[in-house]
Amino acid sequence: MSDNAAPAFDWAQVRADFPLLQREVNGRPLVYLDSANTAQKPRAVIDAVDDFYRRHNANVSRAVHALGSEATEAYEGARRALAGFLGVQAQDLVLCSGTTFALNLVAYSWALPRLRPGDAILLTRMEHHANIVPWQLVAQRTGATIRVAELLPDGSLDLAALYRAMTPEVKLLGLAHVSNVLGTVNPVAEICRHARERGITTVVDGSQAVPHMPVDVAALGCDFYAFTGHKLCGPTGTGGLWARREHWQAMPPFLGGGEMIEEVRFEGSRFAAPPHRFEAGTPNIAGQVGLGAAADYLGRVGMARIAAREHELLAHASEELARIDGLRVFGQAPGKAAIVSFVIDGTHAHDVATLLDLEGVAVRSGQHCAHPLLQSLGVGATCRASFAFYNTHAEIEALVAALRKAKALLA
Ligand code: PLP
Repeated sequence: MSDNAAPAFDWAQVRADFPLLQREVNGRPLVYLDSANTAQKPRAVIDAVDDFYRRHNANVSRAVHALGSEATEAYEGARRALAGFLGVQAQDLVLCSGTTFALNLVAYSWALPRLRPGDAILLTRMEHHANIVPWQLVAQRTGATIRVAELLPDGSLDLAALYRAMTPEVKLLGLAHVSNVLGTVNPVAEICRHARERGITTVVDGSQAVPHMPVDVAALGCDFYAFTGHKLCGPTGTGGLWARREHWQAMPPFLGGGEMIEEVRFEGSRFAAPPHRFEAGTPNIAGQVGLGAAADYLGRVGMARIAAREHELLAHASEELARIDGLRVFGQAPGKAAIVSFVIDGTHAHDVATLLDLEGVAVRSGQHCAHPLLQSLGVGATCRASFAFYNTHAEIEALVAALRKAKALLA
């Protein structure tokens, strides 16, 4: 190495930022491979929540006293931090409890008043239930129908079929940025360009994208972008929805109550401007403050660096898993994110996950809130190992050793 070469990044130090990763499970060091389900939290996030409750706790946007101003400033500061992290304007970012709430907000406030019988909602086979069920509820009430774009055998979207499905009846496209089962990264910018040319409104579920790669939401060209905070190293019950300003301005409120009004009379109310118009009631203030700290933390580590680290871990895991006889991985799309769903022939995913847990290895097993995808894969359940930047190569070896042991026991 030459004298002026950059020193290797210290991932061990980054890992040490996560207190929970030091614990043991079933007498073994914890190997946490379930970050696609929820990510672990760095000390910076835990401390931000703790500091809010110890020193600044008050309600937002109501009290004129010092604590009220501090709480409001902390909450709005979190919005600014998240907006910076996503490359959008803070005033176009509504904070909410996560992707599920965000997608329902679009469904009820944007789609319900607009869709008519004969209209179609286009979804992909790889959507999470959060990006399916709200549209079914809207379809039932409006007479619109749901159309599905299928996948290619490697788990990537069949783009030609997707574009063919974009007929004039289609008013809305619901699309995962990254699949929570297959790890497929969809070419969102290209897809949104095609949709826009046909006058189709795009709703992107960014839940599994923002934790793994730099995402410049404004550059994607979508209409709505939803994300959830707890997968982004933030607290549970946090997240947000970005929308183009013209949508926010045209949308009626989803929920009514305090915090979202300008004036209330029994004859009628005037609503606050977006984003507050869509944040009725007392929000999860400490949680969103923690999420703002998570965005700052991830920004300091560097999302490009995180993406490179996770690809390295994924390559290692893929190579090792390919050596286990009878283990089948679902999702081989080029450039996929560090999510590996698999089955071992002749075993049930829950049995495998239970045996892994005895070795301290946490993976998710089941249908991953994606029944339609699992139905098309022809399996009842899979195990899913999902990696984050705080995982190590040694943990991949531990996963593989635990899998070999489980396989021997179940064979
Ligand atoms: N969409 C995707 C792709 C997900 O992976 C998840 C979480 O599992 C969700 C939506 C739902 O997120 P939340 O439960 O935080 O609202």
